[in-house]
Amino acid sequence: MTVVAAYAATSSTGPLTKTTITRRDVGPRDVRFDIHFAGICHSDIHTVRAEWRQPRYPVVPGHEIAGIVTEVGSEVTGFKLGDRVGVGCFVDSCRDCDNCAAGLEQYCIGGGMIGTYNSVGRDGQPTHGGYSGSIVVDENYVLHIPEALPLDAAAPLLCAGITTYSPLRHWNVGPGSRVGVVGLGGLGHMAVKLATAMGAEVTVLSQSLKKMEDGLRLGAKNYHATSEPGTFKKLRNSFDVILNTVSANLDLGRYLEMVDLDGVFVELGAPENPLVVPPFSIIGMRRSIAGSVIGGIAETQEVLDFCAAHGIASEIEVIAPDYINEAYERVVASDVRYRFVIDTESLRS
Ligand SMILES: [Zn+2]
Ligand SMILES: [Zn+2]
Repeated sequence: MTVVAAYAATSSTGPLTKTTITRRDVGPRDVRFDIHFAGICHSDIHTVRAEWRQPRYPVVPGHEIAGIVTEVGSEVTGFKLGDRVGVGCFVDSCRDCDNCAAGLEQYCIGGGMIGTYNSVGRDGQPTHGGYSGSIVVDENYVLHIPEALPLDAAAPLLCAGITTYSPLRHWNVGPGSRVGVVGLGGLGHMAVKLATAMGAEVTVLSQSLKKMEDGLRLGAKNYHATSEPGTFKKLRNSFDVILNTVSANLDLGRYLEMVDLDGVFVELGAPENPLVVPPFSIIGMRRSIAGSVIGGIAETQEVLDFCAAHGIASEIEVIAPDYINEAYERVVASDVRYRFVIDTESLRS
């Protein structure tokens, strides 16, 4: 085992503090890499604050991880020393069920995917995430980060990027598609960039016009404030796909009515309360309401390659580990444009 520095939460109320954790020895099919950057996802905050369920402390969050390979097992074929690599939201799955076989490990039904943190690995040990100096992961769950992408701005593609890319692909977004993006945050800004790169006409639906300049710069054609009373009426039947990146409970009926015939409203966030769907808001135009969670390993590689080919990545603010607690407060206050990424250099020495 190797001892590495990390930032961990030990309770739902205290700050994250510097500590040490252990990483397993590299097995025949494992890759060890030095972590260079780790994105801060809102899920990290929900987890450490026990807002979803009681986690198993200490929690070392981080599932947007980018770094450089330092050791490979004897049977590893896909990676070599010095490779630029990443790990997203999960580090293992059953590898046996139909969904795993189809490359949809995020929907594994043979025990479920094993989270990058706050989970238990095959070795029976708790998993720890990217707020640390290095990590050991089975090569089947490691991604290649293309040369064209900077490691820091690539890290958020491993959660925010794939979470928005997968539904855009699944619902066949392309040239001519009309896509609405609800919320311009960590997920929303990636949805705008990706859908635009796919050739869609993108509209941002944000509470106010505060970030309008950014939204248009990122590629959106239109930008509307949902606090404006006329917005919903004006945009009735206007979209083929709406991605909802907001985790608050919305007045869903009004959003659904912006979806056109046979269109879909895709829920990506996890609001606290059940979704309230007025029946006529889906009956009327044969609309669908759906959900989607991250993406499989193959598709995560695809989004990285897609971003490299289109010259896009996440908009980030790089911070030092000792700023994590302050960054959390700012994420909760939506005061980040658009993703915090921790430079983990001080955790490697
Ligand atoms: Zn995430
Ligand atoms: Zn499975």
